[in-house]
Order: sequence, then C-alpha cells, then structure tokens
Amino acid sequence: MILTHVDEARAALARAIDQASRIVAFTGAGISTECGVPDFRSTNSPWLKYKPIDFDVFVSSELMREEAWRRKFALDDIYAQAQPGRGHYALANLVASGKATAIITQNIDNLHQCSGTPDDRIVELHGNGTYASCLSCGLRHELVDIRRGFEATGAAPLCSACGGPVKSATISFGQPMPAEAMRRAHEATVACDLFLAIGSSLIVYPAASYPSLAKSHNARLVIVNGEATPLDSEADLVLRGDIGDILEPFAS
Ligand code: NAD
Repeated sequence: MILTHVDEARAALARAIDQASRIVAFTGAGISTECGVPDFRSTNSPWLKYKPIDFDVFVSSELMREEAWRRKFALDDIYAQAQPGRGHYALANLVASGKATAIITQNIDNLHQCSGTPDDRIVELHGNGTYASCLSCGLRHELVDIRRGFEATGAAPLCSACGGPVKSATISFGQPMPAEAMRRAHEATVACDLFLAIGSSLIVYPAASYPSLAKSHNARLVIVNGEATPLDSEADLVLRGDIGDILEPFAS
C-alpha cells in the first residue's frame, strides 16, 4: 500500500510502531536534507560535482589525496554546522523508549549521535565524516587540526604517530565495508519485527540489501521516502512524502 497524504501516513506509521516491539531504522541522506545536508542524487548535488575519488587512487596518489581534502573541506563548509532534524529526534525517541533496537545509517553526518541516540545503538555503514583516521595505524585525527595544517601547507596530512596517510573516516568507493558495522547491522536486522527504511534511494549496495534481509526474516517493511524506490514492491507499506512531516509526531 502506498500512502501519500501526510495524516494517513502518520496514522499508519503510528499503528505499525504500536504493533512492533523490535524496530530497526535504516536511514539515508534524505533524513538530513531538512537539516541543510544535501542528499547524494538530487539535482545539483555537491557530492556529484566531481567524479568520486576511489579508495585505491586516494592511497596511491598524493595529488589525489590533496584533492580529496580540498573537496572535503569545501563540503564541510556547506554542512558541518548542521543540527538534527525531526526525523533524527523521532528515531532517538524510539530508541530511548526501548521500541527501536538500532539505527543503521548510511549517513556520515553524525546527526543521529547529535540527536541523543547512544553510540551503541547506531551502526554506521559508511563511516563518519566528522573526524579522520590513519589508514596505516587507525589513529583518530580531528578535522580542525588537519584543516589548519592543510591550509598552511596544501599538503595531504600524514599521521603524527606513524606517518601513514590520513583519510576522512568515511568509506570511499572501492574501500572495504567495515566488517564490525556489517555484522551489527545483520544481527539487528534479522532480529527486528519492523524495519523502517527512511530517506534512502535504496540503490547503494550492500547497504540496500538490509530491507530485503529483514523481510526474509519475517519483519514488516515500511519505506518512508519522497520518491519511489526499487524496493517499494517488497514493502508492506510505503509512506511517500516529506520525512520530517511524517515523523514529526514522534519527534517531541
Ligand atoms: P540518496 O541521495 O541516494 O537518496 C536520498 C533519498 O531521499 C532520495 O530518494 C530523495 O528523494 C529522498 N529525500 C531527500 N530529502 C527528502 C525529504 N525531506 N523527505 C523525503 N524524502 C527525501 O541517498 P542514500 O540512499 O543515502 O545514498 C547516498 C550515499 O551517499 C550514502 O551511502 C551516504 O553515505 C552518502 N551521503 C550521505 C549524506 C549524509 O550523511 N547526510 C549525504 C549525502 C550522501
């Protein structure tokens, strides 16, 4: 069933949440657009302004590492000050009430953490863009320090501990998925009874395999998104409209 009227969507979501006891939310870039973070595929996406730099190119080319950091700081200027929106607060409340067991996110913007959801309930499939880490030894580096050095020298940062290349703590195209996050996402998904896919075009794999995994383990699948997705036909319910508007009743 596809619902497009916001009141009907809110009522149907409330019923689905009422009937569930182990909810997993799966979020994509669409939950953060009302916070000023542009999504990936919409028109004029700043993320698609340039061809993405694959992981092996980042590792092998100092010039491309410098380019990656130039792009990173330009994007940060667009969204680093973003604050959580209604969707983030709604999900934080579902976690706090014990209804939701996990938030699996493709997002890298740290806004689930900022909305008060504890770290141990958040699974980041594509990493986190609010800090960096050394590709050789794993040491965490803060962006403010990296930016200061980068702006002073123009050189791509190297780890202060081991000299290895430092990269934003996100998963680039061609970079292996984080094994522990994938394990936690799988565990939460197969155990849930309601899987809420919110704000994702559901075309980036392996992340987009989780809704079908939940269905195959007898969970209900509800998709909340502004446009159609390839998995709508698998869903028990599709709520099509603005994410913040649909989730607003759960946000306070
Ligand atoms: P996507 O851009 O492919 O899809 C976002 C979906 O959300 C689209 O279908 C769009 O129509 C919908 N949408 C946008 N705003 C909406 C709103 N207010 N209400 C309802 N629907 C809305 O994003 P994706 O599926 O998450 O895949 C993009 C990849 O890019 C992810 O892997 C992620 O790591 C990365 N990314 C992350 C962020 C972020 O952290 N906020 C932003 C851009 C890209």
